[in-house]
Amino acid sequence: MHIGIAGAGLLGRLLAWRLVRAGHAVQVFDAAGPAPVFRSQAPEQGYVPTAAGFTAAGMLSPMAELDNAEPGVAALGWRSIALWRQILAELPAPRPRLSVQGSVLLAHRGDAGAAQRVLDRLHAATLAPEWQRASPPELVQALDMAALRALEPSIAGPAQAWLLPGEGFIDTVVTMHALHADAAQTQWHWGQPVLAVDAGAGGGTLRLADGRVLAFDAVIDVRGVGARALAPSPLWGEGRGEGPAAPTEHTLPAPTPTLPQRGREHPHPNPLPRAGEGASQRDASAMGVRGVRGEVITLDCPGHGLTRPVRLLHPRHRVYIVPRSARQLIVGASEIESEDRSPVSLRSAVELMAAAHSVLPALAEARIERLDVNLRPALPDNNPRIECAGRRLAINGLFRHGWLLAPALVEQALQQTGWAPAIDTERELA
Ligand SMILES: Cc1cc2nc3c(=O)[nH]c(=O)nc-3n(C[C@H](O)[C@H](O)[C@H](O)COP(=O)(O)OP(=O)(O)OC[C@H]3O[C@@H](n4cnc5c(N)ncnc54)[C@H](O)[C@@H]3O)c2cc1C
Repeated sequence: MHIGIAGAGLLGRLLAWRLVRAGHAVQVFDAAGPAPVFRSQAPEQGYVPTAAGFTAAGMLSPMAELDNAEPGVAALGWRSIALWRQILAELPAPRPRLSVQGSVLLAHRGDAGAAQRVLDRLHAATLAPEWQRASPPELVQALDMAALRALEPSIAGPAQAWLLPGEGFIDTVVTMHALHADAAQTQWHWGQPVLAVDAGAGGGTLRLADGRVLAFDAVIDVRGVGARALAPSPLWGEGRGEGPAAPTEHTLPAPTPTLPQRGREHPHPNPLPRAGEGASQRDASAMGVRGVRGEVITLDCPGHGLTRPVRLLHPRHRVYIVPRSARQLIVGASEIESEDRSPVSLRSAVELMAAAHSVLPALAEARIERLDVNLRPALPDNNPRIECAGRRLAINGLFRHGWLLAPALVEQALQQTGWAPAIDTERELA
């Protein structure tokens, strides 16, 4: 099939990679460029937001995420970890880094009560049948200070520690680039915002901001927060289901209602949606998505010595430190109910860095490489959703665990549509 994808973030790149390998002709349209522009390196004027997939620290924490997600959602994470192993093994060398040696949860003395409440919540969630079907047998393990030192000698300062077996991290930036590079037959269209992704008879259309309407055999909406940010328009009625207007950094022309062009590459009849159909499809495409602000800091700290991701219980933030390489670390992340993409606040930066330094003394001499802000795409119930109607597919709402869920959700979506065979995770890795 000729497939048109709106959005080249985490989901868009993964889908393009899978679909091209399944023999489809794929075109991807994205409002931004192929490489990330991190917030502290971005121009003030005309900033086109980068995919959240680039900003993410890449924690793969099915167990710790039980504190924020339903057991069924977190259980998808174990499947994704198995899929990431297989996907990265199929990418050409040098492969992106994936590490699953467990993660470490830490608490200072004053946070012992909060720590116990989190552990109680995790324990209760692990009793759910969905979780028990999907999870590995090992559960949270308490570590005494000697055991912590043996695992992570560079950590000092916390009063309590636990190992969360099987958790890990993935290098998000390298993986985003690698999926793009390895889906070489894909036609990538950068700087091309898509205003609407509509189903039509025998296929669907992408309505571009420049007025073109392109027809495909199948269309996919994976614009994340962008599925909503461009939706409000006088042409589409009064703020249908929209929250407060989102600040958009790039001004787009209002969509011009045009007859669909016969896509030069893929001519086939593609009538405009029937009366009433377009409205419901646009609502469906938005799914009520909102952006949740997150701030992260990238540090350069040669010889930091950390090998596993670390979470520190903190009264205000879910603080984590992810060792991206022998010298680079990511410290994150705030979680603020706002669609504000302005630069990182002093308060978040100070609190996140002070918390990280309180358990990793080597950070005292780290250098701040960059500060980044992005919006996590979240739906009203904070769960992800796959919507499949005819040849129109939409996936959204990956919220704070997109890297943890994306491969399993893409697998489910491709099984529902029948557009690509399943990945065999039992196959021996290269
Ligand atoms: C600070 C932060 C930390 C995070 N940390 C983690 C983590 O540790 N672990 C984890 O699992 N997840 C994490 N996440 C979540 C994860 O990044 C997201 O869930 C994931 O990126 C969502 O994937 P997506 O493809 O839906 O959206 P995105 O990756 O945001 O991609 C959407 C794409 O659509 C494009 N687009 C938008 N509007 C349009 C339009 N109108 N037309 C065409 N293209 C458009 C965008 O340019 C972008 O490329 C984090 C997120 C943030 C913000």
